[in-house]
Amino acid sequence: MLHYFWPMQKDIQLFDLLHKELERQRNGIELIASENFTSYQVIQAMGSVPTNKYAEGYPGKRFYGGCEVIDEIESLAIDRLKKIFNASWANVQPHSGAQANTAVFLACLKPGDKILGLDLSMGGHLTHGSPANFSGKYYQALSYGVKKETGTIDYDHMEATAKAERPKMIICGASAYSRDWDYKRIRAIADSVGALVLADIAHPAGLIAKGLLNDPFEHCHFVSSTTHKTLRGPRGGIIMMRHDFDNPFGVKDPKGNIRPMSALLDLAVFPGIQGGPLEHIIAAKAVAFGEVLTDEYTVYAKQVIANAQAMAKSFVKRGYDLISNGTDNHLMLIDLRNKNITGKKAQETLDKAHITLNKNAVPFDDKSPFITSGIRVGVPAITTRGLKEVHMEPIVEMIDTVLNNIDNNSKIEVVKEEVHEFMKEFPLYPEIEAGEVATA
Ligand SMILES: *Cc1c(COP(=O)(O)O)cnc(C)c1O
Repeated sequence: MLHYFWPMQKDIQLFDLLHKELERQRNGIELIASENFTSYQVIQAMGSVPTNKYAEGYPGKRFYGGCEVIDEIESLAIDRLKKIFNASWANVQPHSGAQANTAVFLACLKPGDKILGLDLSMGGHLTHGSPANFSGKYYQALSYGVKKETGTIDYDHMEATAKAERPKMIICGASAYSRDWDYKRIRAIADSVGALVLADIAHPAGLIAKGLLNDPFEHCHFVSSTTHKTLRGPRGGIIMMRHDFDNPFGVKDPKGNIRPMSALLDLAVFPGIQGGPLEHIIAAKAVAFGEVLTDEYTVYAKQVIANAQAMAKSFVKRGYDLISNGTDNHLMLIDLRNKNITGKKAQETLDKAHITLNKNAVPFDDKSPFITSGIRVGVPAITTRGLKEVHMEPIVEMIDTVLNNIDNNSKIEVVKEEVHEFMKEFPLYPEIEAGEVATA
């Protein structure tokens, strides 16, 4: 077997596995809404020498020597990120989206404080107050949901809960919600009860970056995100603010001073919840942010929305029940109850055809989170592969064939071959073979 990635590697066992995973990614149709394919230079930056470096602290204020180049790398990442979102402050150190949210909570809440987020079973995220997560264990978590008739956020319910319970923080943003958010209304609700607003844009960040969805920065105190979903960077988290402000709850820094939120947030990330930053990942974040600032990425982000629209239309045409009847962003949530298939069965069967997506609870689901009634379908990854609107119908057709032949393995085998043939047209990381030829 050929060993890609690095011509000199000696760990054949492990690099064979990496090669197998590369082939899996190349052959399949990737519809997991939270996934994407980074550029090859992002991968190169991730697999680079800053992984050897300890750099606790921040640029210019490190606890270790030898950080002058690391400081330049991290500052570049921060500057590019601030430019993307017109933010005045950013922290690029959170190891993940969950860590980013943890740091925001730590910076401005005390254990036991009330938080109000979108219910997990309605599309919210674990870190927005799920009882299984620290956010639901250390804070008193309250939730709002979506309206049964429309599948869209129930702002009246959010407002009524906020007025009755007076939470310290309202969290908006979701993992499985296909519509845009009314940040202005959320801020008005928060102001009426003295709450702070965190917008977690982990999913649609790349679309917001290009002005294709509402801008949360003007209305929300904090914005957190992952960097590996629509933003198409390495796996990681970020926190940003457009306007800094003095923390209103009197939370003091370790020296007993009331400090601006930016300082408290920096302290919350390090030393609050993390030790040494992953500077090789921060290097890769800088590369990805540089890419987001290009016109090429603007074209990509617009294509994501065009593809999602085309795909939603194809599903609706075939009688699929889309929550909220469509999408404003990069994903759609499909209720399979009218097809008599569970989310679990759909996911597992599509997997056999190398069409990858995830089972997902739908609002007011009557099945457990392990079974679910729905699937979540997203287009950021296939759009990176180069697929356009015309390719959405054939994909939906393949999905439909699998779901209509759910126990017919020979039929599913045929679809799998079709999937491989279909994706051959859209090469993934051709640089790897090109590099091998060059070094041979
Ligand atoms: C994906 C996601 C996260 C968490 O990101 P991880 O990097 O997996 O920790 C947080 N919030 C939302 C809304 C997400 O969708």
